[in-house]
Amino acid sequence: MRRRSWWGWGYDGEGLTDAQIDALGAALGERLGLDGRRRDPPPIDTIDLAPPRISVPATLRPFTSDDRRERVSHAYGKSYRDVVRALQGRIDHPPDLVARPRDEGELSSVLDWCAEHGVAVIPFGGGSSVVGGVEPDVGEAYPGAVTVDMGALDAVLEVDRLSQTGRVQGGVLGPALEDQLRPHGFTLRHFPQSFECSSLGGWIATRAGGHFATGPTHIDDLVESLRVLTPAGVVETRRLPSSGAGPSPDRLFVGSEGTLGVITEAWMRLRRRPRWRAGGAVRFVSFEDGAEAVRSLGQSGLSPSNCRLLDPVEALVNGAGDGSSAVLVVGFESADHPLDAWAARARELVSDHGGEVDEASWRARHTPAGRAGGDTGPEGDADAAEAWRSSFLRGPYIRDGLVRLGAMCETFETACTWDRLGVLHDAVTSAVRAALVDVGASRGFVTCRFTHAYPDGVAPYFTVVAPARPGTELEQWDGVKTAASEAVLAHGGTITHHHAVGRDHRPWYDRQRPDLFAAALRETKAVLDPAAICNPGVLVDVARRPLGSQGP
Ligand SMILES: Cc1cc2nc3c(=O)[nH]c(=O)nc-3n(C[C@H](O)[C@H](O)[C@H](O)COP(=O)(O)OP(=O)(O)OC[C@H]3O[C@@H](n4cnc5c(N)ncnc54)[C@H](O)[C@@H]3O)c2cc1C
Repeated sequence: MRRRSWWGWGYDGEGLTDAQIDALGAALGERLGLDGRRRDPPPIDTIDLAPPRISVPATLRPFTSDDRRERVSHAYGKSYRDVVRALQGRIDHPPDLVARPRDEGELSSVLDWCAEHGVAVIPFGGGSSVVGGVEPDVGEAYPGAVTVDMGALDAVLEVDRLSQTGRVQGGVLGPALEDQLRPHGFTLRHFPQSFECSSLGGWIATRAGGHFATGPTHIDDLVESLRVLTPAGVVETRRLPSSGAGPSPDRLFVGSEGTLGVITEAWMRLRRRPRWRAGGAVRFVSFEDGAEAVRSLGQSGLSPSNCRLLDPVEALVNGAGDGSSAVLVVGFESADHPLDAWAARARELVSDHGGEVDEASWRARHTPAGRAGGDTGPEGDADAAEAWRSSFLRGPYIRDGLVRLGAMCETFETACTWDRLGVLHDAVTSAVRAALVDVGASRGFVTCRFTHAYPDGVAPYFTVVAPARPGTELEQWDGVKTAASEAVLAHGGTITHHHAVGRDHRPWYDRQRPDLFAAALRETKAVLDPAAICNPGVLVDVARRPLGSQGP
């Protein structure tokens, strides 16, 4: 049985080996000024863990536990702040209990019990949040917190072949979802980098951004209808390909981050597995030229499935370039038709912007009918840039390796319209560099890539790697993150394009959203979650109503 790592990415034993971490240290240690020491995760039984404040109620006992490992491994998501604290054996806000409901009835009984006793409920899918979305930091007003792990609700329940849709339970993780869709010849083709350890419910709750770099990128576009258990009752939306009947009820819950209830099922729009692919890598002298090429592609209507631009350092770090040029990875895929015309036109467009096509990487591929085409996993269309793809998949493990070596290593992302891109990119990178100096990490660096492109704008994604000082890692990162977030907001970006708001982005999200919208959201929450038990601290704060009972 594979067991999920409690402190870092992925599964026990599948991260970097000690020898690989040492090799990483040898390659980067001097450049970054790392101390060469490897931080090992502490044994769970040595962690100083606050005792549970509530005991398991008899009604929830068959599927709820206060087991130490359960509590510790549901205490954090997977951000840099989370991994650093876990490696220090510091668990700030463990859930008191972890429930693993096996059906909606059991889930309902958790919500009822928590509402009755004023206990906070934290929905938990894959736990890959990088914004504090699953950390039970709910404040003193709550006598306790129950994390609801949705992992047992992991089935594809129905497939409608004619409409090409499937009814899927919210707790299913990416690989198990694709395994169940494969025999039907379908795929969701939603491959966030966290695909392996994130869930359908989590994707919907956070408006995750997936595989497609253009076109239907956010999970929003793939949701046909939803079933949500709220403390006030069930909300089930109608299955429709589209509807003009007022504001969309689906959209209320897409992005609700566990604050309005638990997404138990969704009808999802599926695709046939792609059989034709074409694409490759293109080099640009400057990132700016590459950005112009991406704009041109984004506005061309060609809709490439992959369109990732890496700045020169990002390309170097990912093994996709030598650091002298920006690299664009372009890919097309189709279940229906050859893509030669699309690829040829894309080559013309990128060439118009000074792009030099890397002929060795550029190719078209066709998987004959009946074979498992398109089954190469997340970002599998990027055949022509294998280095980028494998680095994308191994990235989270490498990040953990760097953190174990004492490096600050984190990403943040935004989106802005094309007219603001140049100023925003320069302001953000300058702010981060200045902040690195301020926090005593001047050897650090920041890189940028584009993860998603739209006709009217783009989603820049930044990576920061720097030496951290033992004991002040969180303060250092907070200094950098604050500077970056201020620059993003000041220059017309969003505080998040796909990482969600969680607890960490609240200060900027609160400033970004219109006040009246916030007021409407608060009223909505008051209706759906009258005891304000669902993921307190995330998205919106509401006054708590008096309880029928003062805690268990
Ligand atoms: C290495 C790495 C790479 C990443 N890459 C991407 C990426 O490419 N694209 C992207 O969009 N994000 C990415 N993320 C962020 C994260 O994976 C996404 O936010 C993802 O959608 C979270 O899914 P999850 O199942 O892990 O949710 P969790 O982390 O378990 O929960 C996230 C939020 O959703 C709520 N929630 C979870 N399940 C439910 C449910 N069933 N009903 C109601 N609320 C629920 C939680 O309460 C919480 O607020 C990445 C994260 C990491 C660590």
